[in-house]
Amino acid sequence: MRQRQSIRIPWRFGTATSAALLVALLVAVAAAPASADRIDGTARTAHTVHAYEKARARVDRLKDERAPAERVRSAEDRRKTLRDRLWDELRRSQRALYDPVAVDRSGRAGRCPRGKSPKKKGSWQTPVANYWLTAGFAAGGDRWRHRHTGQDFAVNSGTPVRSVGPGTVWATTCGDGFGNQVLVRHRDGYFTQYAHLSRIDVRKGQRVTAGRRLGLSGATGNVTGPHLHFEVRITPYLGSAVPPLPWLARHGVRVR
Ligand SMILES: [Zn+2]
Repeated sequence: MRQRQSIRIPWRFGTATSAALLVALLVAVAAAPASADRIDGTARTAHTVHAYEKARARVDRLKDERAPAERVRSAEDRRKTLRDRLWDELRRSQRALYDPVAVDRSGRAGRCPRGKSPKKKGSWQTPVANYWLTAGFAAGGDRWRHRHTGQDFAVNSGTPVRSVGPGTVWATTCGDGFGNQVLVRHRDGYFTQYAHLSRIDVRKGQRVTAGRRLGLSGATGNVTGPHLHFEVRITPYLGSAVPPLPWLARHGVRVR
């Protein structure tokens, strides 16, 4: 699904072009007062996502270098502060938009189709076994306005969708543009999202191992055909996605 939000200041353009765009933007915002808050908030959110990823990379680097504990701790504090800020901003904005992840995490109101998942032992893996990659993560630039927030895996409906790593089910929801979806929280604090499922096989709060079946792929929500939409997020909320394939690579999973 594509994000329904936002603008980004094109830093790479020349000063004259940027000034002209800024004027055009101010005119546009003035002409649409009802949406001004959202535009403003989302531009700030995109900046915080970027800052968080830099802070997290710095923590990893300091740990690798065996830096003094005090420096690691202060870098950790910065990372956590940024995550808390992002979490607060997005929870507020997503509640206002009735995002089910922010409103009803157990999907009760949406009556999601349910199944059961057998226990399984496994190691970090791709969310589906046989796939071809379609739409990838669009980091921004001129596609920002309608940017793609995850990685699509084209699979037939009914394909088992598995948790990429160990974690806890944060939410199972249905009924919005993502259709039936599962969100899993992992130990490194990131969340993975599995959307457009035809059936959900886990419950909110359930612990899952790597490879545990979360549900079956499908074509629910805002889609043109069956596929798995997979995201990696800093918070449970839309708007905090990061490039999913580098994140999987950090866990030893190659996607090709
Ligand atoms: Zn997608």
